[in-house]
Amino acid sequence: MLQALREYFQSLLLIELFRGLGVTGRYLFRTKFTVQYPEEKAPLSPRFRGLHALRRYPNGEERCIACKLCEATCPALAITIEAAPRADGSRRTTRYEIDLFKCIFCGFCEESCPVDSIVETSVYEYHFERRGENILTKEKLLALGDQYEAEIAAARAADAPYR
Ligand code: SF4
Ligand code: SF4
Repeated sequence: MLQALREYFQSLLLIELFRGLGVTGRYLFRTKFTVQYPEEKAPLSPRFRGLHALRRYPNGEERCIACKLCEATCPALAITIEAAPRADGSRRTTRYEIDLFKCIFCGFCEESCPVDSIVETSVYEYHFERRGENILTKEKLLALGDQYEAEIAAARAADAPYR
């Protein structure tokens, strides 16, 4: 009975509403956490791992030697590689794919690569609109490497994470 009466008067006097407004008031003049994305961006962790890329040497030759270490070490089985020798006898991939639906962005592929070929950039602004776009093909990976090579190389030279 007493409880019911208390709830009745609390409801009548809008106590809960004023409590809620009190919380709003307390945060009104505090530092804002929101940013105006995409004009403003939140800082990235130096350990952030984003979209993958395959790098080339300065002469345009692809770095990957098709050793398949990244494929073997990938815990999510997200990498598929097929390889064959080229006319000059060098071994190169004929197929290199990463399934981004499987990838857990652990960075093991990057760490295992002996020639610094597969890397993870800090690119996080991507999306898929059609079935199959989750597969990063060799062509797409090389194109990403070409696009971000300057930043990746600079970060490697400074022994800092690429951002
Ligand atoms: S980041 Fe990890 S899960 Fe993703 S492809 Fe590389 S090794 Fe596999
Ligand atoms: S990306 Fe690196 S680890 Fe993977 S197959 Fe090529 S050379 Fe080997």
